Amino acid sequence: MNEFDIETLAVRAGYQQTAEQENSEAIFPTSSFRYKSAAQAAARFSGEESGNVYSRFTNPTVRAFENRLALMEGGESCVGTASGMSAILSTFMGLCQSGDHIVSSQSIFGTTKVLFTKYLAKFGVDVTFVSQTDVSEWQAAIQKNTKAFFLETPSNPLTEVADLHALSTLAKANECLLIVDNCFCTPVLQRPLEQGADIVIHSATKFIDGQGRGIGGAVVGSAELIEEPVRGFMRTAGPTMSAFNAWIFLKGLETLPVRMRAHCENAKELALWLTEHPAVENVFYPGLESHPQFELANKQQSSGGGLVSFKVKGTKEDAWKVIDSTEMLSITANLGDVKTSITHPATTTHSRVEPEARIKAGISDNLIRISVGLESIDDIKKDLARGLALLV
Ligand SMILES: *Cc1c(COP(=O)(O)O)cnc(C)c1O
Repeated sequence: MNEFDIETLAVRAGYQQTAEQENSEAIFPTSSFRYKSAAQAAARFSGEESGNVYSRFTNPTVRAFENRLALMEGGESCVGTASGMSAILSTFMGLCQSGDHIVSSQSIFGTTKVLFTKYLAKFGVDVTFVSQTDVSEWQAAIQKNTKAFFLETPSNPLTEVADLHALSTLAKANECLLIVDNCFCTPVLQRPLEQGADIVIHSATKFIDGQGRGIGGAVVGSAELIEEPVRGFMRTAGPTMSAFNAWIFLKGLETLPVRMRAHCENAKELALWLTEHPAVENVFYPGLESHPQFELANKQQSSGGGLVSFKVKGTKEDAWKVIDSTEMLSITANLGDVKTSITHPATTTHSRVEPEARIKAGISDNLIRISVGLESIDDIKKDLARGLALLV
């Protein structure tokens, strides 16, 4: 189905109808599969005959999700996993060994940082954290044993944009892999593999589900990088995506292009409105011309995305006032949902970062992050206007 547009792939790719001729994809909640004979069982186990054996390895619903996402990202292979974190773990367990070194953006998901510094480090994989936006820091951090670059773009919550072209060129010149967590843009807005990345990682929990129902993840790339190393680890260690969750994400992909466009439209309007508001000091959104990397964002992602952050003129108490004055928005750190969510990064998602490092990274006490959902933009503005009015 390579010749189809992403909207078509999202709806139709990757699924093989069964003999029942169903129109909507079936769920296969089965742990194992039966064989016609002992000989067939032997052939399946030896790999001589392709086909299902056990749902820790492969499952038809999971496979449909994997096929569809692979086509949407423009990758050869995809492995579904139990969560976004286990997608990241499976990637590094599959591809790295003791003595390897990783260069990572410092502006990554907090739990990924903990995975690197607390757990991968125990197995002799070292990580150096560098600036999301300064390519010379990446270059300076490269060692003889550097195996991979890791980043997510735009970053959370300040929406800093990493230069995929520059970093993939640098990675290739140094024979290391560029691994991109594409959770915020999804393949609808940005396809990192087409821009030189080697591997794309997803937390399917966010926009791919889009309605906050399930936890899941995925890793996409060439068959060489994915099949033996990453799927091999996944099938052995078992952070497997369940058939039911795969079905949720498969159905989520169907509406992903439409939802992403609507998220972006609402987010841009909210960002513009916040820019004009007298209680707001600064707005962070890659779709605004005032964003320091507006041109780069424009080049590598087709829209600004669904996340908007802003600093109120004031203190932590003022930021909390705005959050607590909302009546409709969900006060939660989850993102990528049709329901708009609002969070105070300094005391939630980034509360475990040392205060000094947090301030240096720009996560100040007056910062608020919004994952803009699909309610009426006028109602979202009204819900925020109530608290903002208290600050002017
Ligand atoms: C949420 C998130 C993850 C982790 O995904 P889970 O599904 O929660 O395990 C990884 N990366 C980013 C950018 C995320 O937002």
